[in-house]
Amino acid sequence: MANEILHIGSVDIEVTFKAIKNLHLSVHPPDGRVTISSPDFYDLEKIKIYAATKLAWIKKEQAKIRSQEREESKLMITQESHQFLGKRYLLKVIEANTPKLVLKHNSIELYTLPEATLEQKQRTLYNWYKKELEAKIGNLIFDYAKLMNISDLNFGMRKMKTKWGSCNIEKRMLWFNIELAKKPINCIEYIVVHEMVHLLERNHNKNFIILMDKFLPNWRVQKKILNELPL
Ligand SMILES: [Zn+2]
Repeated sequence: MANEILHIGSVDIEVTFKAIKNLHLSVHPPDGRVTISSPDFYDLEKIKIYAATKLAWIKKEQAKIRSQEREESKLMITQESHQFLGKRYLLKVIEANTPKLVLKHNSIELYTLPEATLEQKQRTLYNWYKKELEAKIGNLIFDYAKLMNISDLNFGMRKMKTKWGSCNIEKRMLWFNIELAKKPINCIEYIVVHEMVHLLERNHNKNFIILMDKFLPNWRVQKKILNELPL
């Protein structure tokens, strides 16, 4: 077993040679460390070429992992920064008898019971995110359903680990990641249109692209922004 470090772009990759049959690429929490396990008969040049083709994916995974870590480490305290619709707000925690959340110009006022736990504060914020996102997505679906001539569909919000949205074509049910509430409205719109287009075209094929271009001509830009944003 030998170890090598590959430098590809700005990414360092630890390569371990083992008695295995296929290359295995992984990006690890919490800091986005990248490893490749390689069959011991491969040479480094071959691995380098493979890694280079995966660079965009690696960076995307790293961004995802790093954002999850940051999210989990939120303390829900005054002056902490939180995102809503692509804008940064400072949290202001205020003790009160009834938990609620009020959005101000530059701040989010979080009213909590004096004895509220971190989880309870997070839940208040997430319930609010969910409600706000539901309203935004509801409006988008209403508009696009008319444009696309789609009827009979349902949607819901939930926590998702790896996806922004999903579509159950048989049940005509769209699901959206609550984390989208933190993203710019144009990015939310891209995900809504993407999932709705699945009701017209199941696969990510040429027809899917044609439909995306038709209903949301700038979707590529929004997709790029969404994937590059520090989440
Ligand atoms: Zn899709």
